[in-house]
Amino acid sequence: MEGSSLQIVHYPHPTLRHKAKPVRRVDAELVRMVREMFSLMYAHNGIGLAANQVDLPLRLFIVNLSAKPDEGEEFVFINPVLSKPKGNEESEEGCLSFPELFGLVTRPKLITVQAYNLRGEEVRMSLSGMLARVVQHEYDHLDGTVFVDRMTPTVRAKAQPALDEFDLSLRALRQTGAVPSDDVIAGRLAQWEQRYT
Ligand code: ZN
Repeated sequence: MEGSSLQIVHYPHPTLRHKAKPVRRVDAELVRMVREMFSLMYAHNGIGLAANQVDLPLRLFIVNLSAKPDEGEEFVFINPVLSKPKGNEESEEGCLSFPELFGLVTRPKLITVQAYNLRGEEVRMSLSGMLARVVQHEYDHLDGTVFVDRMTPTVRAKAQPALDEFDLSLRALRQTGAVPSDDVIAGRLAQWEQRYT
């Protein structure tokens, strides 16, 4: 596990349905993995990435609304708690675990997040706009919820052909051994949980 390189997993990879556990310690390896998450996110033009999406069972996610390494602000949210949802807003979302799939999702317009950064400092922010949306999308990942779960039946039906394709792709990757069995995945998640949670 030490020094292993991370990869973004695609729906319906089982780790996307795993409820992530609170992080109890931050070490050099975890800092390195968070850096690697930023690299992966930028390489795929993403603005947010949760630990589940790189096959880690930890309650942390990263955000940079600029999608670029030298622009915008990099946020790391460890053990986030959301509160004070207000209003409702519909907007189109995508997800690095669902390449090229986009769809409308309704979420609270305003949200407050409390979390810790990599230095162990408490962060508390009242969010609106894109940042509020991304934080709620990434937070969902930690509970094993993905954005298609929040689509209306009509929007979801439109996404269904793409979801069927993702199912077929994962099945093919499992046949080649590129994605291991559920037992092997569960064993790896348990090892990470033992180390950090
Ligand atoms: Zn996502």
